[in-house]
Amino acid sequence: MATTQIPLNLGTLPAFRNETYADFTSPDSRRSMRQALDAVRAQSGREYELWLAGARLKTEEKLVSRNPSRPSEIVGVHQKATPAMAGMAVESAFSYFPEWSRTNAQDRVRMLLGAAGILRARKLEFDAWLVQEAGKTWIEAEADVCEAIDFCDYYAREMLRFDDPKPMLHMPGERDELVYLPLGAGVIVAPWNFPLAILAGMTTAALVAGNTVVVKPSSETPTIAAKFAEVLLEAGFPDRSFSMLTGSGSTVGDTLVQHPKTRFVCFTGSREVGLRINELASKTQPGQIWIKRVIAEMGGKDAIIVDSEADLDSAVAGVLASAYGYQGQKCSACSRAIVDRQVYDEFLDRLKAKVDSLKVGPADDPDNYMGPVISDGARRTIQNYIDIGKKEGRLVAGCGPVGGDGYFIKPVVIADVEPKARIFQEEIFGPVLAVTPARDFDHALELANDSEFGLTGAVFSKNRDKLRKARDRFFVGNLYFNRKCTGAMVGAHPFGGFNMSGTDSKAGGPDYLLQFLQAKSIAEKLS
Ligand code: NAP
Repeated sequence: MATTQIPLNLGTLPAFRNETYADFTSPDSRRSMRQALDAVRAQSGREYELWLAGARLKTEEKLVSRNPSRPSEIVGVHQKATPAMAGMAVESAFSYFPEWSRTNAQDRVRMLLGAAGILRARKLEFDAWLVQEAGKTWIEAEADVCEAIDFCDYYAREMLRFDDPKPMLHMPGERDELVYLPLGAGVIVAPWNFPLAILAGMTTAALVAGNTVVVKPSSETPTIAAKFAEVLLEAGFPDRSFSMLTGSGSTVGDTLVQHPKTRFVCFTGSREVGLRINELASKTQPGQIWIKRVIAEMGGKDAIIVDSEADLDSAVAGVLASAYGYQGQKCSACSRAIVDRQVYDEFLDRLKAKVDSLKVGPADDPDNYMGPVISDGARRTIQNYIDIGKKEGRLVAGCGPVGGDGYFIKPVVIADVEPKARIFQEEIFGPVLAVTPARDFDHALELANDSEFGLTGAVFSKNRDKLRKARDRFFVGNLYFNRKCTGAMVGAHPFGGFNMSGTDSKAGGPDYLLQFLQAKSIAEKLS
């Protein structure tokens, strides 16, 4: 464990800055990225052990991860944790918690800054893993890795802030303090769509706050999780501070969530799984002595309003990037464009021209704007929604085959969609955009809010009164004006949604760490 040298504080540490993205238009960066892809491909098919409470284990059943751009390519072979292993992981996290929670916060912060440094040094390698295992294009992969680095750098500084004495009112004759303590052993359940950034953000926030964790990565992206576990260990996080349990969520999830020694669950994923976790965690188990805390970030059905007074070219660019970046597989993706009828036809014409020109193909070719969707199952689900959408509206762009054996889907635009249509209400999680006309701005706001979700949204308008109205009435956790509704940046756009989108945890913001802490008030009567 690292020892304290020069005390760290927010005054001496450089202020937080977002990690700069690589410029893949430069020939040098392109060459380096190709080399990183070759190096990662050379490890194809390698078997990874599961990391359980300081030991590397193998199981009989294996989880095979494939490259969604070329499914015959095996990225990694992983272990499938059993419910018994899940129970052992929670027990171990619980028994190691007293020791880890008593480490100096400064030591934990140093480890986290170290993890940021290791990720930074291995950035292109991680980019390449994201291209290979998650089907991210180069720039989307780079954004994911930079966000992971940002989370580490940001939460390290946040921990220093929470570790500082809080200025309290002192009662006459008393010294009054407020200190923050970690919660205990937690469970982290991560999705595949930001397989590094979200996994790293949730895990490191919990760890730096002094909690121990059992991490359950997505079955689609176990190799990236295994690589991140290497980073944590190299950065000095003790081998019992976390377990990395690869395997099926439906097999180990209930055991992890229901275990009486689980103190909190931090989840990002679908509405269905999030609600199940919330329900199971709320039921007190024999021997359980706390109310489990659930931090859950879930789905979205995000809308962009294009007003009659919008700059149409920038609205088209914003909708395009938000709807089709990473193949629409972002919780923040725009899946509804709500367009004032005065500019509806013009907007659709310009959008169609752009969508028709988007290139789809293997994610390792930087000329492709869109790569594959994550799996064959996802492709089938999305295709089913496209078939439904063709009946619910008018197909304007997309459909038809894409060459290659990857899980490719062309970007789809379906116009004239009614608010009660399934493709207007249900999360599709693919490159499918529903476009709906609005009578005026008030109607557009009403349509945008007609959703059980409330994650992100954007408004394109030059009229400040309308923007002011949207500020008050557009009910989403992350609202953007005259820009895309994806691409939240750590430190600038704390991220989390309303309603069925989650508990509004605001990842990458000043309130986030508080969810992994509990406050203790201490009052001492002075003689
Ligand atoms: P998912 O199917 O809900 O899976 C998320 C995680 O939950 C995976 O690790 C999964 O493991 C695990 N899981 C499955 N069943 C479980 C159970 N019964 N108990 C405990 N864990 C269980 O979601 P996904 O397909 O990975 O991700 C896409 C969804 O995430 C979309 O809805 C998207 O909107 C949402 N998302 C939200 C945010 C946000 O910040 N709001 C960010 C990113 C993504 P397996 O992989 O082994 O099944």
